[in-house]
Amino acid sequence: MISKIISINQIETLKKWLQTEEIKNQTKRSLSVFVQIFSARSDPQWLAEIEAALRAVAPQAVIVGSSTMGEIGEGRLLTNTSVISVVFFEKTDVQGFLVDTENQDEAVVGKSLSQKIESSCQKIAGVLLLATSSSIDASHFLEGFSAGRSKTYPVFGAGAGVYEGEQKPIVTLNQQFSSSGVVAVVFTGDDIEIVVHTYLGWEPLSKELTLTETDGLWLKTIDDQPAFEVYHRYLNIQDDEDFFLNVLEFPLLIERNGIVYAKTPNAVKNHHDIKFIADIKQGESARIGYGNPAMIIKNARDIQDRVQAFNPDGIFIYSCTCRRFLLQHEVELETKAFQTIAPSVGFYTHGEIYSHEETVMLLNATMVTVSMKEAVGKASEAVLETGPAKPRTRKLFNCRDNWMIARVANFFNGGTTGRGRKASENGHQKPSTETLVDPFNRQNNRIISQLVNFIKVVTAELEQANQEARLLAERDYLTQIYNRLKGHELLQREIARCNRYGQECAIIMLDVDFFKQVNDTYGHNSGDAVLIQLVKMLAREIRTVDVLSRWGGEEFLVLMPQIDAQGAKKAAERLRAVVEETAFTQGLRLTASFGVTTYKKGESPEAFIDRADKALYEAKQKGRNCVVLK
Ligand code: GH3
Ligand code: MG
Ligand code: MG
Repeated sequence: MISKIISINQIETLKKWLQTEEIKNQTKRSLSVFVQIFSARSDPQWLAEIEAALRAVAPQAVIVGSSTMGEIGEGRLLTNTSVISVVFFEKTDVQGFLVDTENQDEAVVGKSLSQKIESSCQKIAGVLLLATSSSIDASHFLEGFSAGRSKTYPVFGAGAGVYEGEQKPIVTLNQQFSSSGVVAVVFTGDDIEIVVHTYLGWEPLSKELTLTETDGLWLKTIDDQPAFEVYHRYLNIQDDEDFFLNVLEFPLLIERNGIVYAKTPNAVKNHHDIKFIADIKQGESARIGYGNPAMIIKNARDIQDRVQAFNPDGIFIYSCTCRRFLLQHEVELETKAFQTIAPSVGFYTHGEIYSHEETVMLLNATMVTVSMKEAVGKASEAVLETGPAKPRTRKLFNCRDNWMIARVANFFNGGTTGRGRKASENGHQKPSTETLVDPFNRQNNRIISQLVNFIKVVTAELEQANQEARLLAERDYLTQIYNRLKGHELLQREIARCNRYGQECAIIMLDVDFFKQVNDTYGHNSGDAVLIQLVKMLAREIRTVDVLSRWGGEEFLVLMPQIDAQGAKKAAERLRAVVEETAFTQGLRLTASFGVTTYKKGESPEAFIDRADKALYEAKQKGRNCVVLK
């Protein structure tokens, strides 16, 4: 197996390259030739032109193409080019299939494709799939594809990307193309080995959210709120045509069977529903995630080590577009090292296809690497050309296809978040004088402001959660006054003040008389209502500096700062009289007993409370509905 790579902007460059002796000889010597064209231009004519040039030299070649959101050539990031990967196999056969899913159930098409592949190909070593995942439900297709399989050969590939919404993604196979379909390439033989790796590097940011309502790929509500509202609140993302581009780095992370999957949103409807590229399930838990560059680079190194040990002849890389946004100019850190192992070629995708055991799935936000070797492989090499007599320094948009530059410039100029899309529809317009803008470049400020917004919202959520937790911890659930724990804490604080400043304080311990009968006669709910009513009444009668807490079932403590014994006793008498005079729910009459005491300097809170308890006990002994001062 020999892998060759060329990047072109002009067909002449390719033609010249194809005329080199080496290419001609390799073509003659090979059992099969497999070509992938990764093109920024989603233009069937351009892809057909490339294919015609290739076919003139290698008529037997299986040639597939895909539109992209960035190309990878020799492990480097290229933009606005067409990267061509030519693989010469000595012993491996390659077969191509193209299916269109228009007006058909994707799963049905997927199932019949995998069945067809298995019935027409022997010794399947792996299958590459290229799908127009933004125009079809590729997850559904892959479900069908999985169902139709009877063996577990590796399946890998990607969703075709596009630079703008108005342009349609395309996939091509041998002069046919589809903007709502899938191309499959089957590698067969005993001598080919294929290993596939994937990794994510995204980590959860938000609290756990529940996907409360879904409809196919549409997520309607998160935690019973409109799904868009949640994204808008966290990331300040608007419901406009830039939604997909602005939300790209913030997929939902969902854990299934111990594996974390990212699910990237790609459309919004009526400020409410959000559409996802890959399947989501109602009732699942998710968190909004964000890429961790350090983790990504580390994961990339781990995979590079494993690929190195495998010692492939060629590597294909299918990496999510969002990785370009996130890593900016450092995106090559995760692709470049592969080139030191073997010629590495691929593109930035709209979803990555990966198989795990019998399941083939559409991943988001990941990078999938495919390493291939033939048992009798030879040294591989790659040539990267960006045009004749060009310096080797790389420039963005150094192509001659100025119409594309103009489109991209129009497309990405102006939006409030830096990716405003003002698309021009007439694709093949003439060269423009507009400044060149790389849509992926200089996005740091936009991303940082999204993260700042995220942090602000999360901080506010935390503060509110803390406040709620504090309330729960110190309030009584039924009456909403302080509970015993908080009442005790405030009592200790008051005691400390009395000891420090020599001030006085008192406590009143009160207990409702024969309350059990209330429950027995009127039921527990009426008992609750009486307690709530009683608390309201007590709160009204005491001074604002006094603190009321629920000490036990129908027992309450009133803490009275800066008051002497007689003052406290008078206050207790007043409370007693008010309880006695009040008509409670259902005309019910009640009384309560009161124990009153003042603080003695230096004593413990327990001794203080114990005396009040004893006074209350005495009041009960004396026949109830009275006040005892101790
Ligand atoms: P005593 O005059 O001796 O205090 O008589 P009592 O019936 O009030 O005293 P006892 O301690 O025997 O009964 C207290 C009752 O208060 C028993 C319990 O079911 C009731 N109780 C405690 N907490 C609540 C509550 O939150 N709601 C209701 N409805 N009843 C409660
Ligand atoms: Mg009682
Ligand atoms: Mg009691």
